[in-house]
Amino acid sequence: MITPLTCRNYIAAEWVNAACVDTLESRNPADSREVVATFPRSAAVDVDNAVAAARKGYRSWRLVPAPARAEYIHKVGELLQKYKEELAQIMSREMGKPLTEARGDVQEGIDCAFYNAGEGRRLFGQTTPSEMPNKFAMTVRTPVGVCALITPWNFPVAIPCWKMMPALVCGNTVILKPAEDTPACATKLIEIFAEAGFPEGVVNLVHGVGQEAGKALVEHPDVDLVSFTGSSETGAFVASTCGRTHKRVCLEMGGKNAQIVMEDADLELALEGAVWGAFGTTGQRCTATSRLILHRDIKEKFTAMLKERTSKLRLGAGIDPNTDIGPIINETQLQRVRKYLDIAREEGAKVLIGGEIATEGELQHGYFFQPTILDQVTPKMRVACEEIFGPVVAVIEVSSFEEAIAILNNTPYGLSSSIYTRDVNRAFAAMRDIEAGITYINGPTIGAEVHLPFGGVKQTGNGHREAGSAVLDVFTEWKTVYVDF
Ligand code: NAP
Repeated sequence: MITPLTCRNYIAAEWVNAACVDTLESRNPADSREVVATFPRSAAVDVDNAVAAARKGYRSWRLVPAPARAEYIHKVGELLQKYKEELAQIMSREMGKPLTEARGDVQEGIDCAFYNAGEGRRLFGQTTPSEMPNKFAMTVRTPVGVCALITPWNFPVAIPCWKMMPALVCGNTVILKPAEDTPACATKLIEIFAEAGFPEGVVNLVHGVGQEAGKALVEHPDVDLVSFTGSSETGAFVASTCGRTHKRVCLEMGGKNAQIVMEDADLELALEGAVWGAFGTTGQRCTATSRLILHRDIKEKFTAMLKERTSKLRLGAGIDPNTDIGPIINETQLQRVRKYLDIAREEGAKVLIGGEIATEGELQHGYFFQPTILDQVTPKMRVACEEIFGPVVAVIEVSSFEEAIAILNNTPYGLSSSIYTRDVNRAFAAMRDIEAGITYINGPTIGAEVHLPFGGVKQTGNGHREAGSAVLDVFTEWKTVYVDF
C-alpha cells in the first residue's frame, strides 16, 4: 500500500484547504481496500473564491499576447513529458486503466499541449472587403472570460487538457472541477500547470462533489462559460442551468457507438477493432463499441472469432503489465453493468461469453466485470439502445448495408461509428449517411487525434467540438471591427 495523496484546492496560485473540513477519498478500483487520495468536499464559498480569483486573473491574462500565453502551454507539454510515467502510474492506480492506456492518456495531453501552443501563433481572424469606400472590415477572436471546466474520470488527464489548453491560449482563465473518482490525477496535473508558472488566478482547481461544487460552479453568476464532459443526465442539468443564466455552454456526453462488419470485410482487421473498441478501457469510453452490427454471411464466423479472442483477455489491476482489461471505476457502476446483464437476459439476449462480476483470487477486492458478448440482440432491446459504460458488446445481425446503416443510426446518441468493408462505394455512402460526429472506415470506434474536431451529434453534444481548431469557436467570441479612414 502507498501513502494516500492529500489533495487540496488550487486558487490564486496557492494550494488551499476548503472551508469545510469534510474530506472524501478516492480508492483503487482494482483493490478497494487501498485509498489513493483524500480530497476536500468544497462548498459554494470555495467556488466563490475560485471564481473571484479567476475573474481577477482574467483582467491581465486576456492582455498577454497569444504567442506569450502559448509559451506557458508549451512548458506544460514539456513538464507532462517529464512526469508522464508518474502520472500514468497514478492514473492506473486511481481509475484502473492498464498502464499502456494510461501512458496514452498522458500522451494525448502532451500532443494537445504542443498543438495548442501552435494556436498561439495562429488564432486567425479574417479581413474582408467593406461595402463602403475608405473602410476596412475584419474579424478578431476575443476570449470569453471565466471558464468552468467539468470533467469525467475516464480520461482524467486528456479531457482536462483538451479543455484547459485551448481555453488558456485563447486568453480565458479556468476553474477545473474534476470527477470525484480521480482527484489525484487532477492534483498532479494542476501541479504541472503550477510549475509552468501561470500568473495568479489563471488556473484554478476546485475538488468536490458534482451536485455541490459542480452545481455551484454551473450556477455561479460570474462564470461566463461551462465546458462539460460527462453523462447525458448531468449534461441536461448543465444545459438547462446555463440556458436560464445565459452562459455559453459546450457539452460532450454519452454514446452508443456501433461497428458494422460487412460480408466483404477483412475479418482479422475487424476483429482487432471490435476487441479494443468494445473492451479497451473496460468499455468505459464515450467512443466504446457497444454494438456490433454484423452481416449475416459472416456473423457466425465473426462472433466465434471474437468469443475465442475475448476468452484470452486477462483481467487485472491496471498497474500489472500483464493486464488487458482493468476494473470498472466503482461499485455503483459495477452494479449498473450487472443490472444491464439482467435486463439483457430478460429481453431474450444470449450471453456468448462473460456476463458476470469476476471474483477469482485477487479480483475479489476490486470491481471487475467479465468481458461480455451478447448475441441475438434486436435493435429495440434496452441493451441495444442505452449506454452501459462497461465491457459489454451487443451483436445485432443484419441482411444488407442499408439495414446496417439504419440500425446504426437508430439511437438518440451520435458520437462515434465504424464500418469494415472493402467496397469503396459503401465506404463513401457510410460516411455520408451515418449520423455521428466521427466515422472510421476500416478502423475501430476509438482512437481520436488531438488536431481533429471531436464531438457528437444528436443527444451526444450541443453542436460544439473539442480538439482541433474547431474548439477555438468554444473558447473565443468573434468580434467584427470596422475601421473608417
Ligand atoms: P457524470 O456523472 O455526468 O460526471 C461528469 C462530471 O460532472 C463529474 O465531474 C461530476 O462530478 C460532475 N457533476 C455531476 N453532477 C453535477 C451537477 N449537478 N452539476 C455540475 N457537475 C456535476 O459522468 P461520469 O460518470 O463521470 O462519466 C461518464 C459519462 O461521460 C459517460 O456517459 C460517457 O459517455 C461520458 N463521456 C463523454 C465524452 C465525450 O467526449 N462525449 C468523453 C468521456 C466521457 P462527480 O464526479 O463529483 O459526480
